[in-house]
Amino acid sequence: MAGQQADQTIQVAGEWRPALSGATREILDPADAEPFARVAEGDERDADAAVDAARRAFDAGSWPRTPVAERAALLRRVADLLIRDREELGLLESRDAGKTVEEGRVDIDCVADAFRYFADLVTAEGPGRVVDAGSPDVHSVVVHEPVGVCALITPWNYPLLQASWKIAPALAAGNTFVVKPSEITPMTTIALLERLEEAGLPAGVANIVTGPGHSVGARLAEHPDVDLVSFTGGLVSGTKVAQAAAAGVKKIALELGGKNPNVVFADACATEEDFDTAVDQALNAAFIHSGQVCSAGARLIVEESVRERFVAELARRAGRIRLGRGTEKGVECGPLVSEQQRARTEAYVASALAEGAVLRCGGRRPEPSGTRPADGYFYEPTVLDQCHREMKVVREEVFGPVLTVETFRTEDEAVALANDTEYGLAGAVWTTDPGRARRVAGRLRHGTVWINDFHPYLPQAEWGGFGKSGIGRELGPAGLAEYRETKHVYQNLAPRPVRWFMG
Ligand code: NAD
Repeated sequence: MAGQQADQTIQVAGEWRPALSGATREILDPADAEPFARVAEGDERDADAAVDAARRAFDAGSWPRTPVAERAALLRRVADLLIRDREELGLLESRDAGKTVEEGRVDIDCVADAFRYFADLVTAEGPGRVVDAGSPDVHSVVVHEPVGVCALITPWNYPLLQASWKIAPALAAGNTFVVKPSEITPMTTIALLERLEEAGLPAGVANIVTGPGHSVGARLAEHPDVDLVSFTGGLVSGTKVAQAAAAGVKKIALELGGKNPNVVFADACATEEDFDTAVDQALNAAFIHSGQVCSAGARLIVEESVRERFVAELARRAGRIRLGRGTEKGVECGPLVSEQQRARTEAYVASALAEGAVLRCGGRRPEPSGTRPADGYFYEPTVLDQCHREMKVVREEVFGPVLTVETFRTEDEAVALANDTEYGLAGAVWTTDPGRARRVAGRLRHGTVWINDFHPYLPQAEWGGFGKSGIGRELGPAGLAEYRETKHVYQNLAPRPVRWFMG
């Protein structure tokens, strides 16, 4: 952290400072459970101060009224600064969240892309939509304005990426905000706020309060001066946030979890090359970032005729994934983010085995090694065969390196299994039959559907879920619309009396 003392990680009205209570928190490296940073542990009072600053910056400051081209130029400067500091920030994300440095670097590229995308989107827009009011004496136009003060609450798995999907459109639209990163991975969001300052964002537009969800997050969600709450995280906390925000009739956007199906038809495995691709992508879908991905392909739904061959190869390759500290060369997968997350994963695997699942690989902590300190939160990639839809591990989000296997015989059965979840974030279908690909994609009740691929997303395409995966969308034009109010301005160019009332 260049701009402030180690525990001065709360930024309010342009000033970096410690928590009002003086409390601090150690940030642990999940690869060895050792603290590598200390941050301010804010509480409700810090949240109130930050909202107050954001309110003043919105009501009386320049940012909401800054011309769009200038706002976009600032977002592009931020993207340039992120790329300038890509190595530093990629490394920081790796240490904080446990992912490999290469994943950290990719995250930073994606964050910069989000800032550039929203800069381009707002500059490409016209001044408003003129509507035909049916009279030459009326000029009627629909315009978009910023919502106001936004509370942005983010999770630990993609700390900076998830923050950027909120911060970039919020700023592009002319809002002010308070961001609360996950208490266990706040480092890169703090670093982003420093870059916003360096890019020239006026004081008070961007504010950050590091601290826990039950105090800082809960206060932001209910605060009467907050106009919009955008939350990414789990279903349980998301529900609480929605209830708090509803009491104040705030605008709300929720990006919650997923239990994402990866449907593989036998025809996608007909040649050796196709088989290899489908297995390789199923591996990536389930185990990238140790499965701590909201869109992880955690449910393999494979056609019965190819199941044994597919699962055998998948388990063989999963068993060879090189686990270790994300900053070490040659490591393919890091630890889980916390002891709590590993314990949760272990409990799900135990319940699956008790319910009759068959362990094909993993299911335990790996032996420590040179790249794997004994105290790190490592867990082996795990494949559970012979699963069925009533199992807890199939129904609930594990958020760890655990893949369940279910089988089908018909297309209808595949679709029914894939849709049998209370979530609806993402899913994939693998087939070489273009008609089937379109049919199945059309029937999947998920916010993103991949055909013969898994995981890619585009800043210009909306991201979000059906069902309990959330409310609203991030990215794309709809991801900008979340941060705007719509206003109809009707101008009568030749006013005359109405004479409805004749007295
Ligand atoms: P979490 O719900 O525990 O925490 C998310 C954030 O909410 C944190 O900043 C936390 O401090 C805060 N929080 C917790 N309780 C709160 C409360 N009562 N009021 C206000 N804020 C509160 O989630 P997590 O464990 O950090 O992240 C994992 C979850 O996030 C998974 O369920 C995952 O699927 C989801 N996720 C979804 C997406 C998506 O795009 N849909 C992306 C990433 C993660």
